[in-house]
Amino acid sequence: MTITKTKPDTGKLDRIVADTRRNADERAKGYRELALKMYPWVCGRCGREFTHANLRELTVHHRNHDHDFNPPDGSNWELLCLHCHDNEHSRYIDASGVTSGANSRQSTWTVATGNPFADLKARLASEKK
Ligand SMILES: [Zn+2]
Ligand SMILES: [Zn+2]
Repeated sequence: MTITKTKPDTGKLDRIVADTRRNADERAKGYRELALKMYPWVCGRCGREFTHANLRELTVHHRNHDHDFNPPDGSNWELLCLHCHDNEHSRYIDASGVTSGANSRQSTWTVATGNPFADLKARLASEKK
């Protein structure tokens, strides 16, 4: 009777692949943890304070919008709440002129109609952001 031995090499390779994948995940999570250690848990825009209970809503923003640029001194990180982080990124889009057309069209609308619904429409539009 022959006993087929499992090749140890295959298992080793699998383990290396798994390790590499895990390391990449940990690096991505790593900058968040570093930033949270480095900075007080306060949103850099609205000043909202965070605790362990709601820490999930505090995000790490990359000042230069490059998520791969993570200098260990934290100079590219800024802690922002989800809401302000969204705003930060829509401002970035505004700067490139993508949404400026929509904004000017909306204000024309409000002036032209002059009815209570104009305000409602504007409020709905701002909530969508
Ligand atoms: Zn905020
Ligand atoms: Zn960001």
